Amino acid sequence: MQIKDMQYKRPDIQKFKSAMDEITENIKQSASVDEILALREKKLNLGRELNTASALCSIRYTCNTADEFYEKENDFWDEISPEIQNIELNYGAALLNSPLRSQLEKALSDVYFRYLEIESKAMSETIIPDKIEENKLVTDYTKLMSGLEYEFRGKKMSRPELAGFFKSEDRDTRREAYQVLGDVLNENKEQLDDIFDRLVKIRSDMAIKIGCKDYVELGYYSMRRVSYDVEDISKFRKNVLSSITPVVSRLRTENAKRIGIDRFMFYDDGIVVKGGDPKPVGTKEDIFNAAHDMYHAMGTETGSFIDMMLENDAFDVVARKNKCGGGYCTYIPDYKQPFIFANFNGSADDVDVMTHEAGHALNAYLTGNNRFADEIGCGGMETAETHSMSMEFFAWKYINNFFGENSEKYKFMHALQNLSFIPYGTIVDYYQHIIYSQPNLTPKERCSVWKELESEYRPFICLDGIPFIEDGRRWQYQSHIYEAPFYYIDYCLAQTAAFGFLLKSLENYDDAFAKYMALSKQGGEKYWPLLLNEAGITFPFEDGALSALSSKVEKIIESLVC
Ligand SMILES: [Zn+2]
Repeated sequence: MQIKDMQYKRPDIQKFKSAMDEITENIKQSASVDEILALREKKLNLGRELNTASALCSIRYTCNTADEFYEKENDFWDEISPEIQNIELNYGAALLNSPLRSQLEKALSDVYFRYLEIESKAMSETIIPDKIEENKLVTDYTKLMSGLEYEFRGKKMSRPELAGFFKSEDRDTRREAYQVLGDVLNENKEQLDDIFDRLVKIRSDMAIKIGCKDYVELGYYSMRRVSYDVEDISKFRKNVLSSITPVVSRLRTENAKRIGIDRFMFYDDGIVVKGGDPKPVGTKEDIFNAAHDMYHAMGTETGSFIDMMLENDAFDVVARKNKCGGGYCTYIPDYKQPFIFANFNGSADDVDVMTHEAGHALNAYLTGNNRFADEIGCGGMETAETHSMSMEFFAWKYINNFFGENSEKYKFMHALQNLSFIPYGTIVDYYQHIIYSQPNLTPKERCSVWKELESEYRPFICLDGIPFIEDGRRWQYQSHIYEAPFYYIDYCLAQTAAFGFLLKSLENYDDAFAKYMALSKQGGEKYWPLLLNEAGITFPFEDGALSALSSKVEKIIESLVC
């Protein structure tokens, strides 16, 4: 069925609640494993119905934020989501505390119960009001940021439009664009500080109320981290500092010289290819055709996947007024249908939509019938991003169809930017660890923390010249820090796995792709470390784990210099 024909209906939450309460109560009373398993099936049906409505609302709202009906529905979902989380929590607790638990674990899986345990630690009825308040503060931030206007060279524009100039080949243009960004954000810095301060306080309060040491602990539970802990991430940071930062510093400094830059400034970070970023050739239709051919060439399953996506019109990629920015992939469970949202702008990002976002969509398609598809999905976010980021590299074999004569330039840019991303993403994550373990830092102290991390992880970049940046405020337009705490490191972890797949694919493409597909199909069944192990990909937490990877990727990048 085409997405546009899928009907949205606001669910009756009271009905959902009483049905769920009944299921939970019956699980508590039950003395039969089979009966509990049947109750779980009932719960899955209710959940699918709810998530289908929620996904359809979110799709329609983000595609047109001026639609009054879906704006109201969107508010409804914002308000109701902590309550739903709590209802699910009671259901999970009934399974966890069941006297039949060990038999249930055998019938389902220990991975499934580990997820239930983590979720039970992340939520409690006592924090529902705080969660609602947190959602409101996040909305305040989103509204503030999306409402800001930037006047650049006499023209008023949005931040995504202004950001186009951060990649200009002309250095003065880049500097001026950042100057405009810094000036506008500086005018709003008190508000940005205030919203964040209140978020830190409310998140820290919730952590204490729920019995955690601090929000770092609660944040990990909220992210459903089952595969690694704070200690592992600390080891990962060491690996980034010893193996990735030196290579990125060297590559970026040398590359800057090639472009004619002697002192690498903050506003030079967006440019890696002399003559400007390579752009895809052809129209939107050409990109869709190239994607169609690529997924068919990759194999039968990927071919059926892309046919299904095109047939059901599961894309909205044209940029227009009143459409949200950015891109995402979501899933409509009742129809087992992935959906891809993007804003094509003629840059290489348009191709990422067909590789990265379609990588997520492919995964949802491959795991739609898995037994834990509705509850665990493909696994953690690090696993989801492993699917999408690796697909970006598997697309290299077919990249000619998208970039024509610019293909080598694209590969160079893609690899160098993605490697450079790892130290940046690590800063974003480390920053949050520090902030939430010392919640009483002043806004000024928080900015000093950011600046120190920049000089440690990205020592090649000079932050002077743009007041907002110079003051250590770069994090204030990194929306994840406000909106999705502790999410960011998963991109970095997945990036190392994706580079692992790139190296494998250059040795033996078919074998690497078969391993990738095998990994992609196991959503919800195995932990990320085991999945990596089966695919022969290095686990990034061991001592020195990134050293060989980093030097091999450096050689690839050097071979692509253009
Ligand atoms: Zn992604």
